[in-house]
Amino acid sequence: MSPTLSKITKELLAAYGRYPRKKLGQHFLVDPGVLKRIINAGELSKDDLVIEIGSGLGVVTSELAKHVYHLIAIEIDSELLRISKEVLKTFDNISFVPNDILKTDLKELIMGRRYKIIGNLPYYITAPIVEKILVTDEKPELAVLMVQKEVAERMAASPGSKKYGSFSIFVQYYAEVAINSFVSKSSFYPWPEVGSAVIVLKPYKTPKYKVKDEKRFFDIVHAAFQQRRKKIRNPLKEYNLEDAGIDLNRRAETLSIEEFAQLSNY
Ligand code: SAH
Repeated sequence: MSPTLSKITKELLAAYGRYPRKKLGQHFLVDPGVLKRIINAGELSKDDLVIEIGSGLGVVTSELAKHVYHLIAIEIDSELLRISKEVLKTFDNISFVPNDILKTDLKELIMGRRYKIIGNLPYYITAPIVEKILVTDEKPELAVLMVQKEVAERMAASPGSKKYGSFSIFVQYYAEVAINSFVSKSSFYPWPEVGSAVIVLKPYKTPKYKVKDEKRFFDIVHAAFQQRRKKIRNPLKEYNLEDAGIDLNRRAETLSIEEFAQLSNY
């Protein structure tokens, strides 16, 4: 898209004899407009600590580092990390963590400080990454994530919509969700097979929904959505919810998070 960014990316890869590894979800951002949107969505300031997930060749990293106090770049591909270290050597506010984000102890990295998370995610592990971000007890102030368009729509979906399901409820239980913008395939090199979107998650500092037993709540949500277009009475039979104050002839996709909370608290 941008002749410069995509040229730089291709030249860097060529110089180091590297090809993007699809298995690792390596689709490098080459669109400066999208980069700007990510930076803006992060509401960055000079006292921010940011963790970047999947820093790749360091294109997003360098832009982020200009706007924040400190940046921690986590990247699983040690060769890419080596290249990005070279590219970013003039920065003194970046630390590099050669690790799998799913195996990284975030607490150890942040040491009690407030922080933000930003990343053009490897799509093959979007759900576990989102889960990790939202369920940790030291949650980020916000997360700006590039994800598959379909996944973004599921995260942000409201009751009654086709995309609304247990993943929507999981994410919205923990965080305010907003789709920042949709991103076309041509904004990446190489092009991904799917459309993308930038999503912003703002985890709630205190729980938004009154749920007495989270395990029971999520069990009920999952059970109800096993047959999303059928009455919830059958899949929820074992929970004895006849008198919980919700019409059990309704379908799972019509129930709000409050209503699922009401069912699970009964
Ligand atoms: N931030 C770069 C690269 C994004 S592509 C850019 O926007 O151009 C996704 C990146 O995540 C790749 O660099 C890939 O190697 C990395 N990655 C894949 N799996 C990972 C994992 N489990 N932990 C950390 N990084 C991972």
